[in-house]
Amino acid sequence: MRKRIVAGNWKMNTSLEEGIALAKSINEEVKASKEDIGVIIAPPFTHLTSVKEVINTERICLAAQNCAAEAKGAYTGEVSASMLKSLGVKAIIIGHSERRAYYGETNEILNKKVKLTLSESLKAIYCCGETLEERESGKLFEIINSQIVDGLFNLSNEEIENVIIAYEPVWAIGTGVTASSDQAQEMHAFIRNLVNQKYGGKIANEVKILYGGSVKPDNASEIFGKEDVDGGLIGGASLKTSDFLSIINA
Ligand code: PEP
Repeated sequence: MRKRIVAGNWKMNTSLEEGIALAKSINEEVKASKEDIGVIIAPPFTHLTSVKEVINTERICLAAQNCAAEAKGAYTGEVSASMLKSLGVKAIIIGHSERRAYYGETNEILNKKVKLTLSESLKAIYCCGETLEERESGKLFEIINSQIVDGLFNLSNEEIENVIIAYEPVWAIGTGVTASSDQAQEMHAFIRNLVNQKYGGKIANEVKILYGGSVKPDNASEIFGKEDVDGGLIGGASLKTSDFLSIINA
């Protein structure tokens, strides 16, 4: 059975002081949660070092929300995967739809980020998802296919084993509208099948596919109950310890 994972993406929220307080309270509460559920938190870059000091990193995996598409050099304002590794970060979210939409990150750029992340022996949490327009025009499978194929499928078998895929329909992120559990399952099965065709049954069976998009304590267990849904990537609800914990326990 695949390990379940719940990951919290804090986005550009919390002051340093608020972030430390949130991390402390999540850390306290996670102690009482089911040990077999993987917990990841992704605070802003500026908080990573301080957050690391107040969490049990054996239990909570520290992640970043983005990294540069280049390894090092004259890229003012960028933060590289190796810098993040040097802080103790273990995973990086790559290709969140906000990065794709607001910062023009293409599948090609994201593939470079994934490769750099993996070359530092970090896990890549690779996001994909269609807009409402793409879904309604019937292009959704085509879009997800190209995000997965172009973003990931030049990876070796060893590399893909360190990728967690997050399916996050853009229309469900931060909107309060969540995909139905059947819509999530349909797309997760489609993605797992793509991985199967490219990498074979063993890898496809092991790859973790998280759902993201307005997951809340009251809808988490239904979505997580689907066969190909291995947990969630949580935005808004990861900023409130009680909600995040309810989702972990779902
Ligand atoms: C996200 O940003 O990854 C996300 C899923 O956000 P929310 O849970 O707020 O919809």
